[in-house]
Amino acid sequence: MDLPIPHNIVPLDNILPDEPLLMMGAGPVPIPAKVAAANGIVINHLGDTMSQIIEQVKVMGRYVFQTERGTILGVAGPGSAAMEMAVANIVVPGDKVLNICNGFFSNRLWEMSKRIGAETVKLEVPDAVSVSPQQVEEYIITHKPNVITIVQGETSNTVCNHQLPEIAALAKRYGCFIIVDAVCTLSTMPLKMDEWGVDAVITGGQKGLSCIPGISLVGFSEAAWTHIHNRKDDLKHWCLDAKLADQFWNKKSYHYTAPVSGILAIHEALRLICIETLPIRFERHRRCSEALQNGIEAMGLELHVQPESRLNSVVGINLPQGINGKQLLSQMSSRYRVEISGSFGPNIVRIGQMGEQCRAHNLFRTLHALGSSIKALGHSVNLPAGMAMLEDTLGRANLPE
Ligand SMILES: *Cc1c(COP(=O)(O)O)cnc(C)c1O
Repeated sequence: MDLPIPHNIVPLDNILPDEPLLMMGAGPVPIPAKVAAANGIVINHLGDTMSQIIEQVKVMGRYVFQTERGTILGVAGPGSAAMEMAVANIVVPGDKVLNICNGFFSNRLWEMSKRIGAETVKLEVPDAVSVSPQQVEEYIITHKPNVITIVQGETSNTVCNHQLPEIAALAKRYGCFIIVDAVCTLSTMPLKMDEWGVDAVITGGQKGLSCIPGISLVGFSEAAWTHIHNRKDDLKHWCLDAKLADQFWNKKSYHYTAPVSGILAIHEALRLICIETLPIRFERHRRCSEALQNGIEAMGLELHVQPESRLNSVVGINLPQGINGKQLLSQMSSRYRVEISGSFGPNIVRIGQMGEQCRAHNLFRTLHALGSSIKALGHSVNLPAGMAMLEDTLGRANLPE
């Protein structure tokens, strides 16, 4: 007998709010209209039109990753699929891998390394601080890894490993490959793949790049690419096998049916980054995040991470005594149509500063919603002082619109 026809299905129009929420959390983030329009198109995944688009995605990708000779590949999947692609192709079962763990996402790289059959060593960094090169060097000398994994920005607790260039240099000096998760940071702050000597850079659509979720990019250095091509073992992950992906991304041939709409969307996201240029985009992110941080503190709230370890792409705010994170988020979204994120660990809420989130009008609406909602829940904040500080810091920035 056939299964009964489902008859209680509510159309999307009745599920989605009339006015979309302003997405100011830790991702996904709002997307530019050009990206949204591109995502609505389906074309043949092979042929001349697609080839031209792929070539441009790679050229723009190399600019955004800051690599002249690195290989850029796309992945149909979330940032996590890009993480797994980097790990699975570089780490050979039995390899010794040093996983620098600052929080939830850097731990995921450890989890993936372990599943691939690596012998893993974890460097557990305490919450709210970045890792120091000295610590990394001690671990390298003691454990002699051949691969290191690290996150540039740890979205979960809003820590930035600012000394990534020094750590990448250590990896080079001791002959290790280094895999960097830059999902929330790429195109929001400097990452120079060639100059710093990074072997794999991971990014996802829906965060720093301000694109859609489910399409991601990975960059491999020349050394990593040679290593991948010299591997004699068959990868356990067929979809994520870089040698197979090479067929589509570099040889105009077939691996799997590429996520064409996602590739068109990421083409537009990258193109907008190229038009804006990286230096101006970094400055926009830095100044917007700084203005938001100053505004939060001027209201009388406390940021989770000290300036020397603080990430700009996602801002973590300690919840004041007596304020429940879930209630705060629900007050902000129901009353002000602004969505921010809770947390997987520390008692914080998080506001994203990635791509389209870094616009003055979004900041004013978000900071006001935050302050006003905390007040409504019974904690006193100085809302006018916070708003004035935001205005003042942004006013000094002289940002391009
Ligand atoms: C969000 C995020 C990921 C995972 O991306 P998904 O698209 O959710 O799989 C990985 N690393 C960092 C740093 C992130 O912020």
